[in-house]
Amino acid sequence: MRRSKAFIPTTKEVPSDATLPSHQFLIRGGFINQQGAGLYNFMPLGKIVLEKIRTIVKEELDNAGCNEVQLSFVTPMSLWERSGRSETMGKEMLRIQDRHQNSFVLSPTNEEAMVELVKNRVTSYKDLPLNLYQINTKFRDEARPRYGLLRGREFLMKDGYSFHASKEDMVREFNLMEETYKKIFTRLGLDFRVVEADSGAIGGEGSKEFHVLANSGEDTLVVCESCDYGANIETIFEDEAQVDAYNEKSYEELAVLELEQKCSCGATLIFKKGIEVGHIFQLGTKYSAALEAHFNDDNGKPKPFEMATFGIGVSRLVASVIEQNHDENGCIWTKETAPFMVNIMVSNIKDEEQVILGEELYLKLLGENVEVMFDDRKERFGFKMKDAELIGFPYTVIIGKELANGLVQVYDRKTTQKSSVKVGDIFSTIMGLI
Ligand code: ATP
Ligand code: MG
Repeated sequence: MRRSKAFIPTTKEVPSDATLPSHQFLIRGGFINQQGAGLYNFMPLGKIVLEKIRTIVKEELDNAGCNEVQLSFVTPMSLWERSGRSETMGKEMLRIQDRHQNSFVLSPTNEEAMVELVKNRVTSYKDLPLNLYQINTKFRDEARPRYGLLRGREFLMKDGYSFHASKEDMVREFNLMEETYKKIFTRLGLDFRVVEADSGAIGGEGSKEFHVLANSGEDTLVVCESCDYGANIETIFEDEAQVDAYNEKSYEELAVLELEQKCSCGATLIFKKGIEVGHIFQLGTKYSAALEAHFNDDNGKPKPFEMATFGIGVSRLVASVIEQNHDENGCIWTKETAPFMVNIMVSNIKDEEQVILGEELYLKLLGENVEVMFDDRKERFGFKMKDAELIGFPYTVIIGKELANGLVQVYDRKTTQKSSVKVGDIFSTIMGLI
């Protein structure tokens, strides 16, 4: 893409409520903009990142045998009345009426609708198991929408639902999804932990959360220094006020707190802050029984489906990548999430030789399907460099004065180091880096 033709409205202005790096840099870098409380528009760069994350999620789920569908975002209130959630969801569920005074909901999640979809279409144990998912808009009228994409009211979620003939088979799928989610977050280049989560009445291993470790995380985790064990403190304290008290502590305050309890492996347990990016949950027959969704077992006897549910915060992930990867100058995208891997910058647009080399390299990289931006704007070098740092392209090729000596420079956003490369080697150097 040519920068002169791109819509990337970078800015120095930071909205007063943007306290976190991801919130500030995504707005300043022209990735997103705020439309209203908890409502965000994705501009071209933000949209590219969102689609990259969506693609990785989709690829791994499809590999694991899941089927992608897309449900209507608006769901009839009658569905929620039948499951009882019209009462229990409270004010988070946004209710609307059409011109005939029929009541609807902007879906905050889709268990009911997915059970309805499968009901009477999957009728035999022979058709099971089945795992259906969508990557779709959700709306939750959050009491405190904040931190930009981390807690929006409208957001993009991957929600999956699996249907089984037995509890054992449901647990098998739950474990498969745990492994699949690990693959997804690993591919995204995130430092994350899987922790035991609050699963209400089901208990035990029935619920796990995936947290990106970040000092700004809203959740407090207890993790083992040595083994994989981790738990959301919600599972440790009965009392909600106690959980809130810990969640309000900063990571610095938590870092000095001693935990008397040791991990079952004998090592020390420590506190960490996390951003919940995924949640997998063994539902059992709660929704299938309430909505009378049955299959016939191998004796021809009708039974409610055993179910599990699996969620990923796709738009929350965009911000999570930046919470974990930034410096004081802006975003540092990981390989899999970068909107463009390479930025070519012509230092002096009036220098014909610099422009010609920029054009040549741009076209050659495009020819190799490299995701490349060509900063051909008539702006000062310093301005363009600041912009490149804010946006966070992994590599910027700087074509400047040194060209007279047959050299260009490659700027590495992560290490912030510049290195000189001979003009003749620049193409192969870039191909080797990406
Ligand atoms: P939280 O505890 O953060 O409010 P939740 O437990 O209510 O989340 P789930 O119902 O488990 O969320 O939804 C699945 C995933 O959707 C979460 O793991 C999270 O990544 C994402 N998510 C939930 N609420 C929001 C939100 N308001 N904005 C962005 N992503 C969200
Ligand atoms: Mg959750």
